[in-house]
Amino acid sequence: MTGTGTESNPFENALKQLRLACDAMGIDNDIYNYLKHPTRTVQVAIPIKMDDGHLEVFEGFRVLHSAARGPGKGGMRYSLAVNMDEVKALAMWMTWKTACVGIPYGGAKGGVRVDPRKLSVAELERLTRRFTANIINVIGPETDIPAPDMNTGPREMGWMMDTYSMQKGHVVHGVVTGKPVEIGGSLGRTQATGHGVAYIANEYAKRQGWNPAECTMVIQGFGNVGQYAALTARDFGYKILAVSDISGGYYKPEGLDVDEIFAYISDPAHRTLEGYENAQKITNEELLALECDILAPCALENQITDANAEKLRCKAMVEGANGPTTPIADEILQKRGIDVVPDILANAGGVTCSYFEWIQDRMALFWDLEQVNKELDKIMLRAFNGVYELVVEKKISYRMAAYFVAVKRVAKAIEMRGIYP
Ligand code: GLU
Repeated sequence: MTGTGTESNPFENALKQLRLACDAMGIDNDIYNYLKHPTRTVQVAIPIKMDDGHLEVFEGFRVLHSAARGPGKGGMRYSLAVNMDEVKALAMWMTWKTACVGIPYGGAKGGVRVDPRKLSVAELERLTRRFTANIINVIGPETDIPAPDMNTGPREMGWMMDTYSMQKGHVVHGVVTGKPVEIGGSLGRTQATGHGVAYIANEYAKRQGWNPAECTMVIQGFGNVGQYAALTARDFGYKILAVSDISGGYYKPEGLDVDEIFAYISDPAHRTLEGYENAQKITNEELLALECDILAPCALENQITDANAEKLRCKAMVEGANGPTTPIADEILQKRGIDVVPDILANAGGVTCSYFEWIQDRMALFWDLEQVNKELDKIMLRAFNGVYELVVEKKISYRMAAYFVAVKRVAKAIEMRGIYP
Protein backbone atom coordinates (compact mmCIF):
# COMPACT_ATOMS: atom_id res chain seq x y z
CA MET A 1 0.00 0.00 0.00
CA THR A 2 2.69 2.49 1.01
CA GLY A 3 3.78 4.73 -1.80
CA THR A 4 0.83 4.28 -4.16
CA GLY A 5 0.56 8.06 -4.57
CA THR A 6 3.15 10.33 -6.17
CA GLU A 7 4.76 11.43 -2.89
CA SER A 8 6.26 8.30 -1.42
CA ASN A 9 9.34 9.56 0.44
CA PRO A 10 8.30 10.36 4.03
CA PHE A 11 11.28 12.66 4.65
CA GLU A 12 10.47 14.76 1.59
CA ASN A 13 6.89 14.95 2.84
CA ALA A 14 8.07 16.01 6.30
CA LEU A 15 10.21 18.74 4.72
CA LYS A 16 7.25 19.96 2.62
CA GLN A 17 5.11 20.21 5.75
CA LEU A 18 7.83 22.17 7.54
CA ARG A 19 8.32 24.49 4.55
CA LEU A 20 4.57 25.17 4.36
CA ALA A 21 4.41 25.94 8.08
CA CYS A 22 7.50 28.18 8.05
CA ASP A 23 6.17 30.11 5.04
CA ALA A 24 2.74 30.55 6.58
CA MET A 25 4.24 31.72 9.88
CA GLY A 26 6.88 33.93 8.29
CA ILE A 27 9.63 31.99 10.07
CA ASP A 28 13.19 33.05 9.39
CA ASN A 29 14.92 31.07 6.65
CA ASP A 30 17.86 30.40 9.00
CA ILE A 31 15.50 28.55 11.34
CA TYR A 32 14.05 26.50 8.48
CA ASN A 33 17.58 25.66 7.41
CA TYR A 34 18.49 24.63 10.94
CA LEU A 35 15.39 22.48 11.36
CA LYS A 36 15.51 20.66 8.08
CA HIS A 37 18.72 18.89 9.13
CA PRO A 38 18.61 16.13 11.72
CA THR A 39 21.11 16.78 14.51
CA ARG A 40 22.56 13.26 14.38
CA THR A 41 22.05 10.20 12.22
CA VAL A 42 23.52 6.83 13.15
CA GLN A 43 23.45 3.66 11.10
CA VAL A 44 24.80 0.40 12.45
CA ALA A 45 25.26 -3.15 11.24
CA ILE A 46 23.74 -5.76 13.54
CA PRO A 47 25.27 -9.21 13.01
CA ILE A 48 23.18 -11.99 14.53
CA LYS A 49 23.78 -15.72 14.85
CA MET A 50 20.47 -17.21 13.79
CA ASP A 51 19.06 -20.27 15.55
CA ASP A 52 20.27 -22.59 12.77
CA GLY A 53 23.83 -21.28 13.20
CA HIS A 54 24.14 -19.07 10.10
CA LEU A 55 24.88 -15.36 10.33
CA GLU A 56 22.59 -12.55 9.24
CA VAL A 57 23.41 -8.86 9.27
CA PHE A 58 20.59 -6.36 9.81
CA GLU A 59 20.65 -2.58 9.38
CA GLY A 60 19.80 -0.46 12.42
CA PHE A 61 19.15 3.28 12.61
CA ARG A 62 18.81 5.97 15.26
CA VAL A 63 18.20 9.58 14.36
CA LEU A 64 18.09 12.54 16.72
CA HIS A 65 16.30 15.28 14.87
CA SER A 66 16.43 17.99 17.53
CA ALA A 67 17.46 18.35 21.15
CA ALA A 68 16.60 22.05 21.30
CA ARG A 69 13.83 21.56 23.90
CA GLY A 70 15.24 18.53 25.73
CA PRO A 71 16.64 15.04 25.19
CA GLY A 72 15.63 13.12 22.08
CA LYS A 73 12.52 11.00 22.44
CA GLY A 74 10.91 8.51 20.10
CA GLY A 75 10.20 4.91 19.31
CA MET A 76 12.10 2.04 17.77
CA ARG A 77 10.35 0.14 14.98
CA TYR A 78 11.05 -3.24 13.48
CA SER A 79 9.87 -3.40 9.89
CA LEU A 80 11.09 -4.08 6.37
CA ALA A 81 10.07 -0.53 5.41
CA VAL A 82 12.67 1.00 7.76
CA ASN A 83 15.32 3.07 6.01
CA MET A 84 17.23 6.26 6.79
CA ASP A 85 14.72 8.60 5.14
CA GLU A 86 11.78 7.03 6.95
CA VAL A 87 13.56 7.30 10.30
CA LYS A 88 14.60 10.91 9.60
CA ALA A 89 10.97 11.82 8.87
CA LEU A 90 9.69 10.03 11.97
CA ALA A 91 12.33 11.73 14.13
CA MET A 92 11.32 15.15 12.80
CA TRP A 93 7.65 14.42 13.50
CA MET A 94 8.61 13.51 17.08
CA THR A 95 10.18 16.97 17.49
CA TRP A 96 6.87 18.58 16.49
CA LYS A 97 4.85 16.14 18.57
CA THR A 98 6.70 16.74 21.84
CA ALA A 99 6.63 20.50 21.19
CA CYS A 100 2.94 20.48 20.23
CA VAL A 101 1.90 18.93 23.55
CA GLY A 102 4.54 20.90 25.45
CA ILE A 103 6.64 18.16 27.03
CA PRO A 104 10.37 18.84 27.54
CA TYR A 105 11.86 16.67 24.81
CA GLY A 106 13.32 16.89 21.36
CA GLY A 107 12.54 14.37 18.66
CA ALA A 108 14.22 11.09 17.75
CA LYS A 109 13.38 7.76 16.16
CA GLY A 110 15.04 4.50 15.30
CA GLY A 111 14.49 1.09 13.94
CA VAL A 112 15.79 -2.05 12.36
CA ARG A 113 15.08 -3.19 8.83
CA VAL A 114 13.70 -6.63 9.62
CA ASP A 115 10.51 -8.65 9.39
CA PRO A 116 10.19 -9.57 13.09
CA ARG A 117 7.62 -12.28 12.33
CA LYS A 118 10.37 -14.26 10.63
CA LEU A 119 12.57 -14.33 13.75
CA SER A 120 12.27 -16.54 16.80
CA VAL A 121 12.01 -14.90 20.22
CA ALA A 122 15.64 -15.80 20.94
CA GLU A 123 16.76 -14.22 17.64
CA LEU A 124 14.72 -11.10 18.38
CA GLU A 125 16.34 -10.83 21.79
CA ARG A 126 19.85 -11.11 20.33
CA LEU A 127 18.93 -8.53 17.67
CA THR A 128 17.57 -6.09 20.25
CA ARG A 129 20.55 -6.50 22.57
CA ARG A 130 23.16 -6.12 19.83
CA PHE A 131 21.33 -3.12 18.38
CA THR A 132 21.25 -1.49 21.83
CA ALA A 133 24.94 -2.21 22.39
CA ASN A 134 25.81 -0.68 19.00
CA ILE A 135 24.02 2.60 19.77
CA ILE A 136 24.90 2.71 23.47
CA ASN A 137 26.87 5.95 23.10
CA VAL A 138 23.99 7.89 21.61
CA ILE A 139 21.12 6.79 23.87
CA GLY A 140 20.66 7.50 27.57
CA PRO A 141 18.16 9.00 30.01
CA GLU A 142 19.63 12.48 29.52
CA THR A 143 20.36 12.25 25.78
CA ASP A 144 17.95 10.15 23.77
CA ILE A 145 15.27 7.87 25.16
CA PRO A 146 13.82 5.09 22.95
CA ALA A 147 10.31 3.66 23.31
CA PRO A 148 8.08 1.14 21.54
CA ASP A 149 6.84 1.74 18.02
CA MET A 150 5.65 -0.54 15.22
CA ASN A 151 6.32 -4.22 16.09
CA THR A 152 8.11 -3.46 19.35
CA GLY A 153 6.63 -3.37 22.84
CA PRO A 154 7.36 -3.81 26.56
CA ARG A 155 9.36 -7.01 25.95
CA GLU A 156 11.86 -5.30 23.62
CA MET A 157 12.08 -2.29 25.94
CA GLY A 158 12.92 -4.62 28.83
CA TRP A 159 15.79 -6.13 26.82
CA MET A 160 17.04 -2.66 25.86
CA MET A 161 16.96 -1.44 29.44
CA ASP A 162 18.76 -4.56 30.63
CA THR A 163 21.48 -4.35 27.95
CA TYR A 164 22.12 -0.69 28.69
CA SER A 165 22.14 -1.33 32.45
CA MET A 166 24.54 -4.28 32.16
CA GLN A 167 26.97 -2.11 30.20
CA LYS A 168 26.74 0.72 32.73
CA GLY A 169 27.05 -1.59 35.72
CA HIS A 170 23.87 -0.41 37.42
CA VAL A 171 20.15 -0.32 36.67
CA VAL A 172 19.14 2.63 34.51
CA HIS A 173 15.36 2.59 34.37
CA GLY A 174 14.99 5.88 32.51
CA VAL A 175 16.96 4.90 29.39
CA VAL A 176 13.83 3.66 27.62
CA THR A 177 10.09 4.01 28.21
CA GLY A 178 7.27 1.61 27.49
CA LYS A 179 8.90 -1.03 29.73
CA PRO A 180 6.94 -3.71 31.57
CA VAL A 181 5.43 -2.25 34.75
CA GLU A 182 7.45 -4.70 36.89
CA ILE A 183 10.74 -3.10 35.81
CA GLY A 184 9.99 0.61 35.91
CA GLY A 185 7.23 0.92 33.32
CA SER A 186 4.21 3.14 33.84
CA LEU A 187 0.66 2.00 34.27
CA GLY A 188 -1.40 3.07 31.28
CA ARG A 189 1.51 3.31 28.81
CA THR A 190 0.30 0.40 26.65
CA GLN A 191 -3.12 1.98 26.20
CA ALA A 192 -1.93 5.60 26.05
CA THR A 193 -1.50 6.23 22.31
CA GLY A 194 -4.85 4.71 21.34
CA HIS A 195 -6.54 6.25 24.37
CA GLY A 196 -5.21 9.65 23.27
CA VAL A 197 -6.40 9.18 19.68
CA ALA A 198 -9.96 8.46 20.90
CA TYR A 199 -9.76 11.30 23.41
CA ILE A 200 -8.71 13.82 20.74
CA ALA A 201 -11.31 12.47 18.29
CA ASN A 202 -13.94 13.01 20.96
CA GLU A 203 -12.75 16.55 21.74
CA TYR A 204 -12.95 17.31 18.01
CA ALA A 205 -16.45 15.79 17.82
CA LYS A 206 -17.60 17.84 20.81
CA ARG A 207 -16.51 21.07 19.07
CA GLN A 208 -18.62 20.02 16.06
CA GLY A 209 -21.61 19.48 18.35
CA TRP A 210 -21.72 15.76 17.52
CA ASN A 211 -23.30 13.29 19.91
CA PRO A 212 -20.92 10.36 20.63
CA ALA A 213 -23.84 7.94 20.74
CA GLU A 214 -24.53 8.77 17.10
CA CYS A 215 -20.90 8.86 15.88
CA THR A 216 -19.35 6.22 13.69
CA MET A 217 -15.66 5.49 13.39
CA VAL A 218 -13.51 3.48 10.98
CA ILE A 219 -10.03 2.42 12.04
CA GLN A 220 -7.29 1.45 9.62
CA GLY A 221 -4.68 -0.68 11.40
CA PHE A 222 -5.39 -2.83 14.43
CA GLY A 223 -2.03 -2.83 16.20
CA ASN A 224 -1.45 -1.26 19.60
CA VAL A 225 -2.78 2.17 18.54
CA GLY A 226 -5.86 0.99 16.63
CA GLN A 227 -6.87 -1.53 19.30
CA TYR A 228 -6.92 0.93 22.18
CA ALA A 229 -8.40 3.71 20.03
CA ALA A 230 -11.28 1.33 19.25
CA LEU A 231 -11.78 0.28 22.88
CA THR A 232 -11.72 3.84 24.22
CA ALA A 233 -13.91 5.28 21.43
CA ARG A 234 -16.39 2.47 22.05
CA ASP A 235 -16.41 3.41 25.75
CA PHE A 236 -17.22 7.01 24.71
CA GLY A 237 -20.24 5.62 22.83
CA TYR A 238 -18.89 5.48 19.27
CA LYS A 239 -19.95 2.77 16.89
CA ILE A 240 -16.85 1.16 15.34
CA LEU A 241 -17.91 0.23 11.82
CA ALA A 242 -14.70 -1.34 10.55
CA VAL A 243 -11.10 -2.14 11.39
CA SER A 244 -8.27 -3.64 9.36
CA ASP A 245 -4.87 -5.24 9.66
CA ILE A 246 -2.46 -6.95 7.28
CA SER A 247 -5.07 -9.64 6.61
CA GLY A 248 -7.60 -7.07 5.27
CA GLY A 249 -10.64 -5.11 6.47
CA TYR A 250 -13.53 -6.27 8.69
CA TYR A 251 -16.80 -4.36 8.41
CA LYS A 252 -20.08 -4.54 10.29
CA PRO A 253 -22.64 -1.81 9.52
CA GLU A 254 -24.33 -2.30 12.94
CA GLY A 255 -20.98 -1.85 14.67
CA LEU A 256 -18.24 -4.37 15.47
CA ASP A 257 -18.11 -6.19 18.78
CA VAL A 258 -14.87 -4.48 19.85
CA ASP A 259 -14.23 -6.74 22.87
CA GLU A 260 -14.65 -9.84 20.76
CA ILE A 261 -12.34 -8.62 17.99
CA PHE A 262 -9.77 -7.47 20.58
CA ALA A 263 -9.88 -10.91 22.24
CA TYR A 264 -9.53 -12.54 18.82
CA ILE A 265 -6.35 -10.66 17.88
CA SER A 266 -4.89 -11.00 21.39
CA ASP A 267 -5.13 -14.79 21.14
CA PRO A 268 -1.54 -16.01 20.48
CA ALA A 269 -3.01 -18.63 18.14
CA HIS A 270 -4.25 -15.83 15.83
CA ARG A 271 -2.06 -12.69 16.11
CA THR A 272 -3.93 -11.19 13.09
CA LEU A 273 -7.63 -10.86 12.29
CA GLU A 274 -7.40 -13.56 9.61
CA GLY A 275 -10.35 -15.90 10.06
CA TYR A 276 -12.47 -13.49 12.14
CA GLU A 277 -15.97 -14.31 10.99
CA ASN A 278 -18.35 -11.97 12.78
CA ALA A 279 -17.90 -9.24 10.12
CA GLN A 280 -17.91 -8.70 6.39
CA LYS A 281 -14.48 -8.99 4.77
CA ILE A 282 -13.50 -5.90 2.74
CA THR A 283 -10.30 -4.57 1.19
CA ASN A 284 -8.15 -1.82 2.62
CA GLU A 285 -9.26 0.53 -0.19
CA GLU A 286 -12.91 -0.20 0.55
CA LEU A 287 -12.33 0.44 4.25
CA LEU A 288 -10.79 3.86 3.61
CA ALA A 289 -13.77 4.79 1.41
CA LEU A 290 -16.46 3.83 3.96
CA GLU A 291 -18.95 6.49 4.94
CA CYS A 292 -18.36 7.44 8.59
CA ASP A 293 -17.93 10.41 10.90
CA ILE A 294 -14.30 9.79 11.83
CA LEU A 295 -11.67 7.85 9.94
CA ALA A 296 -8.63 7.05 12.06
CA PRO A 297 -5.64 5.80 10.05
CA CYS A 298 -3.59 3.95 12.68
CA ALA A 299 -1.22 1.93 10.49
CA LEU A 300 1.65 3.30 8.41
CA GLU A 301 2.71 6.51 6.71
CA ASN A 302 1.57 7.32 3.13
CA GLN A 303 -1.84 5.68 3.33
CA ILE A 304 -3.98 8.66 2.28
CA THR A 305 -2.41 9.86 -0.94
CA ASP A 306 -3.36 11.69 -4.14
CA ALA A 307 -4.48 8.26 -5.39
CA ASN A 308 -7.33 7.86 -2.89
CA ALA A 309 -8.00 11.19 -1.11
CA GLU A 310 -10.92 11.96 -3.45
CA LYS A 311 -12.58 8.67 -2.50
CA LEU A 312 -12.75 9.19 1.27
CA ARG A 313 -16.28 9.57 2.65
CA CYS A 314 -15.50 10.41 6.28
CA LYS A 315 -16.48 13.75 7.77
CA ALA A 316 -13.12 14.11 9.53
CA MET A 317 -9.87 12.26 9.96
CA VAL A 318 -7.87 11.78 13.16
CA GLU A 319 -4.34 10.49 12.55
CA GLY A 320 -3.32 7.66 14.87
CA ALA A 321 -0.35 6.70 12.68
CA ASN A 322 2.65 8.91 12.03
CA GLY A 323 2.53 10.60 8.62
CA PRO A 324 -0.44 8.68 7.14
CA THR A 325 -1.46 11.60 4.89
CA THR A 326 0.77 12.97 2.14
CA PRO A 327 0.92 16.77 1.55
CA ILE A 328 -1.07 16.61 -1.73
CA ALA A 329 -3.73 14.42 -0.11
CA ASP A 330 -3.87 16.92 2.75
CA GLU A 331 -4.61 19.70 0.28
CA ILE A 332 -7.32 17.63 -1.43
CA LEU A 333 -9.00 16.86 1.90
CA GLN A 334 -8.84 20.51 2.92
CA LYS A 335 -10.53 21.54 -0.33
CA ARG A 336 -13.18 18.89 0.27
CA GLY A 337 -13.87 20.32 3.74
CA ILE A 338 -12.63 17.21 5.57
CA ASP A 339 -10.77 18.26 8.72
CA VAL A 340 -7.61 16.30 9.52
CA VAL A 341 -6.53 16.33 13.16
CA PRO A 342 -2.81 15.66 12.67
CA ASP A 343 -0.57 12.93 14.06
CA ILE A 344 1.61 15.34 16.03
CA LEU A 345 -1.42 16.14 18.17
CA ALA A 346 -3.71 13.12 17.82
CA ASN A 347 -1.21 10.35 18.60
CA ALA A 348 0.84 12.25 21.18
CA GLY A 349 -0.74 10.33 24.07
CA GLY A 350 1.94 7.63 23.84
CA VAL A 351 4.92 9.90 24.16
CA THR A 352 3.13 11.93 26.84
CA CYS A 353 2.71 8.81 28.93
CA SER A 354 6.34 7.96 28.18
CA TYR A 355 7.18 11.32 29.71
CA PHE A 356 5.29 10.27 32.86
CA GLU A 357 7.20 6.98 32.91
CA TRP A 358 10.52 8.82 32.66
CA ILE A 359 9.49 11.17 35.49
CA GLN A 360 8.43 8.21 37.67
CA ASP A 361 11.71 6.39 36.93
CA ARG A 362 13.73 9.46 37.89
CA MET A 363 11.78 9.91 41.12
CA ALA A 364 11.53 6.15 41.78
CA LEU A 365 7.99 6.94 42.80
CA PHE A 366 5.15 5.36 40.88
CA TRP A 367 1.67 6.70 40.13
CA ASP A 368 -1.61 4.84 40.11
CA LEU A 369 -3.54 4.50 36.86
CA GLU A 370 -6.01 7.17 37.88
CA GLN A 371 -3.24 9.74 38.22
CA VAL A 372 -1.63 8.72 34.92
CA ASN A 373 -4.91 9.10 33.02
CA LYS A 374 -5.79 12.35 34.75
CA GLU A 375 -2.44 13.92 33.83
CA LEU A 376 -2.62 12.46 30.31
CA ASP A 377 -6.06 13.89 29.63
CA LYS A 378 -4.96 17.24 31.07
CA ILE A 379 -2.00 17.54 28.70
CA MET A 380 -3.97 16.29 25.69
CA LEU A 381 -6.83 18.69 26.36
CA ARG A 382 -4.48 21.63 26.84
CA ALA A 383 -2.77 20.81 23.54
CA PHE A 384 -6.05 20.31 21.70
CA ASN A 385 -7.43 23.61 22.98
CA GLY A 386 -4.25 25.48 21.97
CA VAL A 387 -4.51 24.13 18.44
CA TYR A 388 -8.26 24.62 18.25
CA GLU A 389 -7.98 28.30 19.22
CA LEU A 390 -5.60 28.88 16.30
CA VAL A 391 -7.87 26.97 13.90
CA VAL A 392 -10.74 29.29 14.83
CA GLU A 393 -8.72 32.50 15.09
CA LYS A 394 -6.61 32.14 11.96
CA LYS A 395 -9.01 29.97 9.93
CA ILE A 396 -6.26 27.47 9.18
CA SER A 397 -6.23 23.68 9.12
CA TYR A 398 -5.63 21.63 12.27
CA ARG A 399 -2.29 20.50 10.84
CA MET A 400 -1.16 24.03 10.15
CA ALA A 401 -2.28 25.15 13.61
CA ALA A 402 -0.45 22.25 15.29
CA TYR A 403 2.70 23.08 13.31
CA PHE A 404 2.35 26.75 14.30
CA VAL A 405 2.37 25.77 17.97
CA ALA A 406 5.17 23.22 17.59
CA VAL A 407 7.57 24.97 15.23
CA LYS A 408 7.22 28.23 17.14
CA ARG A 409 8.19 26.52 20.41
CA VAL A 410 11.23 24.85 18.85
CA ALA A 411 12.28 28.04 17.03
CA LYS A 412 11.97 30.00 20.28
CA ALA A 413 14.15 27.47 22.11
CA ILE A 414 16.82 27.72 19.41
CA GLU A 415 16.68 31.50 19.52
CA MET A 416 16.92 31.65 23.32
CA ARG A 417 19.75 29.12 23.53
CA GLY A 418 21.64 30.74 20.65
CA ILE A 419 24.00 28.95 18.30
CA TYR A 420 27.00 27.26 19.92
CA PRO A 421 29.84 28.32 19.96
N1 GLU B 1 6.49 5.56 19.05
C1 GLU B 1 5.56 6.43 19.67
C2 GLU B 1 5.30 7.64 18.81
O1 GLU B 1 5.45 7.61 17.62
C3 GLU B 1 5.93 6.77 21.10
C4 GLU B 1 7.25 7.43 21.30
C5 GLU B 1 7.66 7.54 22.77
O2 GLU B 1 6.90 7.12 23.63
O3 GLU B 1 8.75 8.05 23.01
O4 GLU B 1 4.84 8.66 19.28
